[in-house]
Amino acid sequence: MTKKTGKQSINIMGERLIILLMGSQGVGKGTYGALLSKEYNIPLISTGDLFREAAANKTGLGIKARDEYWGQGKLVPDNLTLKLLQERISQNDCKNGFLLDGFPRTLNQAEELDKIAKVDLVLHFVASEKVILERLGNRIICRKCQKIYHRINMPTKVPGVCDVCGGEIYQREDDTPELIKIRLKEYWTKTKPVFDYYKNKNLLSEIDASFPIEEVDKILKQVEKEIEKIKK
Ligand code: AMP
Repeated sequence: MTKKTGKQSINIMGERLIILLMGSQGVGKGTYGALLSKEYNIPLISTGDLFREAAANKTGLGIKARDEYWGQGKLVPDNLTLKLLQERISQNDCKNGFLLDGFPRTLNQAEELDKIAKVDLVLHFVASEKVILERLGNRIICRKCQKIYHRINMPTKVPGVCDVCGGEIYQREDDTPELIKIRLKEYWTKTKPVFDYYKNKNLLSEIDASFPIEEVDKILKQVEKEIEKIKK
């Protein structure tokens, strides 16, 4: 894989790098993932975004996933999720590796992923429930480029308009306190075995994600350190 330094790209791995970003909703995986994607020049793939895009594009799978599952705060069944993911990671921009956000969420998904990719590192981002509820309740997103903002701490310059691409800003349908609580509960119940799975494989690294966005460097430094370790 390549790491960009200024205008140059240098090879630091000589092979594909696959990193999983784990942690409950609202812990900041999307924000840190976007920074890491830039830094390491590999795409950030979020299964949640893939579902939202598929629904926006009105594909059969996208509409089914929204109407029957994610629109109600439920996990989408593994077969649909894997189908969507497999299509995405077979694209050319994933040849040097990728960062995965929001996948795997079940033990079965982790086992299926092992059949199609070699996971190098699993980063577990951790923050308190209080921090998570505050972040999610104020999260707003660009419909076009998916950039994430915070209503109070990181608002757009013009209300309702993305600073980066001019796209429309929206709040996710499932970012209501009621659905957040359902998602958090479901997340921990279903995902706990996934943490144990990667812990047993010695791939899991915990990252303290409770810092405010201005201190994002503290988190990136922790992540860099973990990536350095696997390069050795
Ligand atoms: P997220 O943006 O990661 O919170 O995902 C939004 C919704 O998409 C989730 O609440 C799930 O319904 C669905 N989803 C995303 N990733 C997965 C996954 N790996 N397995 C099952 N459902 C998923």
